[in-house]
Formats: sequence, C-alpha cells, structure tokens
Amino acid sequence: MAPSRNVTIGCLVALSFASAFAQTTRPETQLPAAQEVSSLAKAAEQGQLAQRFMDDRLAVWQQRLKLEGWRISVTTVRLSDLPPETLGGIRWDKSKKSAVILVLDPSDYRLPFREMLDDMELTIVHELVHLDIASLPRGQASRGSEEHAVSGITDALLGLARKKP
Ligand SMILES: [Zn+2]
Repeated sequence: MAPSRNVTIGCLVALSFASAFAQTTRPETQLPAAQEVSSLAKAAEQGQLAQRFMDDRLAVWQQRLKLEGWRISVTTVRLSDLPPETLGGIRWDKSKKSAVILVLDPSDYRLPFREMLDDMELTIVHELVHLDIASLPRGQASRGSEEHAVSGITDALLGLARKKP
C-alpha cells in the first residue's frame, strides 16, 4: 500500500469536563444527573437531537473559520474506539479536502444533556482549529505545543461566542 495521505489526530479535548469520563479513579468528582434519562426511547431521541445540534454547530463554525472549501462531517464514536486518553479526533484528507470529526458518543457521556451539547460543540471547534492550522508548515513544535495552542484558541472562540450580551 502507498502511504496514506489521511491524517488522523486524536485529541484530549473537553478538558473542563475530562474528569467526567475516563478518570474513574476519582469518583468524588461529579457524577451528574445523566441517569435521569432512563428510557431507551429517550436516549434515541436525544441521540438524534445531538446529531442535529452537531450538524448545525459544524455548519456555523465551518463558516466562521472560513473552511467552506472543505467537505466536513461529524460522527460519533464510542470511547472504546478512540485512541487511549483521547476524547475526540479528526481525520482528514488534504488532497480531497474532506474531513470527518469524531465526537464522543452520547452513551459515553456522563453529563446533563445541555452540558453534553456544549462539550460536543467544544470538540467540533477544537478539531476545526486543528484543520485550520493543518496547512501551516510543520516546524519544531511538538504535538503537545499544537494541542496547547488549539485548546487556547478554542477556549477563546467559544468564550466570545457564548458571552452573554
Ligand atoms: Zn487536539
């Protein structure tokens, strides 16, 4: 096989809520009211709502970041299908200008619905910022530095977007 032009990045995004997943060794950090939602029907309905929300936010942020030239979709993945220590990711093909953003599946979230949506939006913006800087020439910067920059930019963008008027 020829080397693939596909680039995949796994991200430890959603830092503000990271303790809600993964770190099961710290049960004293919040385990919020997710269990209120018990019926499967409701879960399915929320899954559809979440997908619609993500498609909507993707369109908004793709435009804001001037990435309209890309064909981008967002899909959910189970935590077990992501690389260790990551909570989201993006896969792109520069030659085709196509990308898929990977967002944690609702069933792996342990957050109230509204906070889950906020977190999904954060993942989408974070991964779009990665895509935005993907065209820069690679310097000495390590993955860690890129991750730090992407997280800072994402926080700033979302902070502005969510600021109460
Ligand atoms: Zn990242």
